[in-house]
Amino acid sequence: MDISVVIPLLNEEESIKELYDWIAEVMQSNRFSYEILFIDDGSSDASWKIIEQLSLEHPEVRGIKFRANYGKSQALHAGFARATGEVVITMDADLQDNPEEIPGLMQMIREDGFELVSGWKKKRYDSVLSKNLPSKLFNWAARRTSKLKLHDFNCGLKAYRNEVVKSIDVYGEMHRYIPVLAKNAGFRRIGEKVVKHQARKYGKTKFGMSRFLN
Ligand code: UDP
Ligand code: MG
Repeated sequence: MDISVVIPLLNEEESIKELYDWIAEVMQSNRFSYEILFIDDGSSDASWKIIEQLSLEHPEVRGIKFRANYGKSQALHAGFARATGEVVITMDADLQDNPEEIPGLMQMIREDGFELVSGWKKKRYDSVLSKNLPSKLFNWAARRTSKLKLHDFNCGLKAYRNEVVKSIDVYGEMHRYIPVLAKNAGFRRIGEKVVKHQARKYGKTKFGMSRFLN
């Protein structure tokens, strides 16, 4: 199989079907064989019902459901453990990440020899105060401590050779530092690709101002 798409989600009922359709269209027009793993991180809305329905209709869709909200890192971890594709793509479920970036990411892994390619939301459609400024500071600190020349460590859209996701242990809040985990696990070919980003179409961020308060 060419690609496993791993999608962590918490209460994203409005987006899931639309995201599935978009990914399927990109995969089919590029003739990639693929699976989509939706990891429901303890949603209380209809997300799981929609995932179950999609997986009944489409054999390439698989769902994993957490009993409670364990966090984005744990959701990625569960998807990574089950991913069988040669390349693993992670993306957020809220339609902020664009599936049309997948062929370009694939090319960087397969043809340019990268082991991990991290998306760079160069033009970012999020709140300036609660997201863009803290993120600049975070990325500056991550660059200094890791010596990795990336602009956007925490971008949800990334591509990996399968052995990379099997060699890292993502837990707690570590999803923000995945390129650093990969570097520490011995992977050196870590690159980045400018990716298109969209404003959140439905619902609200799950990592807003409240993350500074708790
Ligand atoms: N998410 C998750 N568990 C959480 C919080 C968020 O699986 O505890 C998912 C969320 O549904 C989305 C992705 O992680 O698919 C990124 O979250 P969000 O869009 O809220 O973050 P932002 O884009 O605002 O940084
Ligand atoms: Mg988002």
